[in-house]
Amino acid sequence: MRSNIIEVNKLVKRYGELVAVDGISFAVQEGEIFGLLGPNGAGKSTTLEIIETLRTKTAGEVKVAGYSLDDAPGAIKKLIGVQLQSSGYYPGLNLIQLIELFAGLYNAAVDPMQLLTKVNLQDKAKAKVKELSGGQRQRFSVATTLINSPRIIFLDEPTTGLDPQARRSLWETIRSINQQGTTVVLTTHYLDEAEYLCDRVAIIDTGKIIALDPPGKLIDDLIASGFERKKEMKLATLEDVFINLTGHSLRED
Ligand code: ADP
Ligand code: MG
Repeated sequence: MRSNIIEVNKLVKRYGELVAVDGISFAVQEGEIFGLLGPNGAGKSTTLEIIETLRTKTAGEVKVAGYSLDDAPGAIKKLIGVQLQSSGYYPGLNLIQLIELFAGLYNAAVDPMQLLTKVNLQDKAKAKVKELSGGQRQRFSVATTLINSPRIIFLDEPTTGLDPQARRSLWETIRSINQQGTTVVLTTHYLDEAEYLCDRVAIIDTGKIIALDPPGKLIDDLIASGFERKKEMKLATLEDVFINLTGHSLRED
């Protein structure tokens, strides 16, 4: 059995009167892709940023790899990979130089080309961030989470705003990082993304977890409860049409 790498117990976050996270409990298993799924304002980013040690909590307990957030935030920081905000990207530096800079901040030894290859940006090594497409920027942002060779990476809405090809490319990037042994915790409000990528999802609404299971099990349970789609589904979607017309390969350049 897989062991829990993250344990969240009765976590609460209040912003004044607003209860953004309302006593949620869940565990993430080492090696899985775990999704926090929910509409805007559900409390996904707040939950993620508390685990990442970037926001304070109001109540509850968080443990990462056995370290308590209250006692050992520094130890947790060393184990996790967090997306660096693009506002922190020095505009004059290219991707290799930025990775070298970040590696210096983490005191980590990295091979920038190897890291860029992991996110399929080896051809853009000498480019500046402003010269990248939206999908390439997101992949670079994912690369920045890997600089300190973390055991867990956190991705907050990694594919929001991307076109279908760029989304699929990022999905493959996330999968391959996971297959190399990194636990992935991501948030999304795309159901197809959660279904494709996540081993398990927690569905969050107004600060509460209303379901937590593998996507396939959530669907089977719904069908077992007698649910039937109102309209017969076609065998393809409009997105399939789009991808079929515009091509499967990435066209970002
Ligand atoms: P999600 O990521 O699921 O969209 P958030 O965690 O960003 O949700 O926000 C949850 C709720 O908390 C929302 O109602 C949001 O407006 C509120 N909120 C988030 N950050 C702050 C903040 N710094 N101050 C006050 N309210 C906030
Ligand atoms: Mg959010």
